[in-house]
Amino acid sequence: MDKYVRFMAKRTRRLAASEIRELLKLTEGKDIISFAGGLPDPAVFMREELAEIAKEVILTKGDKALQYSPTKGVTPFLETLKEFMRGHGTSVTDDDDIIVTTGAQEGIYLISKTFIDDGDIAITEEPTYLAAIQSMRFFKGKLIGIPVDEKGMRTEELEDLLRTSQIKVKLVYTNSTSQNPSGTTMSLDRRRHLLELASRYDFMIVEDDPYGYFVFEGERPASLKSLDKEGRVLYVSSFSKILAPGLRIGWVAGPKEVIRVIEMGKQNVDLHSSTLSQYIIMEAIKRGIVDQTIEKARALYKIKRDLMIEALEEHMRDLATWNKPIGGMFVMVKLNYDIDTRKLLPLAIQKGVAYVPGAPFHVSSNGSNTMRLNYSYPTPAQIRDGVRRLAEAIREFRAS
Ligand SMILES: *Cc1c(COP(=O)(O)O)cnc(C)c1O
Repeated sequence: MDKYVRFMAKRTRRLAASEIRELLKLTEGKDIISFAGGLPDPAVFMREELAEIAKEVILTKGDKALQYSPTKGVTPFLETLKEFMRGHGTSVTDDDDIIVTTGAQEGIYLISKTFIDDGDIAITEEPTYLAAIQSMRFFKGKLIGIPVDEKGMRTEELEDLLRTSQIKVKLVYTNSTSQNPSGTTMSLDRRRHLLELASRYDFMIVEDDPYGYFVFEGERPASLKSLDKEGRVLYVSSFSKILAPGLRIGWVAGPKEVIRVIEMGKQNVDLHSSTLSQYIIMEAIKRGIVDQTIEKARALYKIKRDLMIEALEEHMRDLATWNKPIGGMFVMVKLNYDIDTRKLLPLAIQKGVAYVPGAPFHVSSNGSNTMRLNYSYPTPAQIRDGVRRLAEAIREFRAS
């Protein structure tokens, strides 16, 4: 690496390899229960149906499906997507447009590229999605975190900040439903409040919503996008958690003028997202396969969430606190002690369990005593066993 550093662009030099990622890499393939990942359970993948669709699409529509396609997305797929969103409670208006992206991640990256200049201020939740922090920082955005509680981002704190400081906020990034990593969901009141602040203080909102389609209990509050009357929300979502992440398809819906610029920004990144994946997903939506996958994920992850909460109550009641997520794939655990979970990790791995330390999800220096646990991928037995091992590691670490 060092040998080539002098050739690298300055922005590339900032991409430091994460020590934690290196440490977690060592756990792969070993007899270690991992709560560190963020993978869907492969049991939700509808293999037979997708295989059938893929074969049919290639044989009957191959001329188009195997071909280059428009940067913005395959035209009939954009229509299908609009209907899909509407069916799940979020309308796309005549002033809006949609662009298909290579996962939600590319959407977040392209939004960062489109909006953030050197030193521009963006607000995130605290904690927030790590990859969003990385994208916005890559373009030298200055990030300020607003803490979340059980009702999501504390918008009153955001209001205080906007009122008492001179800062000019360009955008607010929120993972509004079943947040990664904290598992919290922003209440309807706070969604309305955030939109009101966007209007009063003139900023845009990026609503990242990969989990809004499968909440376990009741309905999720209306999406920010559906409440937006001023064209301030860029809605980002993905088929990664509701069909299959390997297809690499996400999308951004928002005001036409903005989508047009994002489209130009995408052209020189990857020309367009996989045409074949778009054709497969278009068919999967029409045949109800996506909605069936959503139902499978909802049922399975609810059971696994309950198991993890039960195990936490059994083994860690005196050690930590946590929230009960209404959806998504993660629980965030906060230790009652001033233990840096980065320092605890080697001992946990020795005990046969891995997690992601919470600090990197914070844009401030907070969160060192938190950890993110994934419950979608491990088996029920691993969830029970892993939490027991984790509690053991914490007790031993405290005693040492
Ligand atoms: C999983 C996830 C995504 C989806 O990423 P893809 O690039 O679509 O796979 C986006 N945002 C958050 C918060 C996520 O947890």
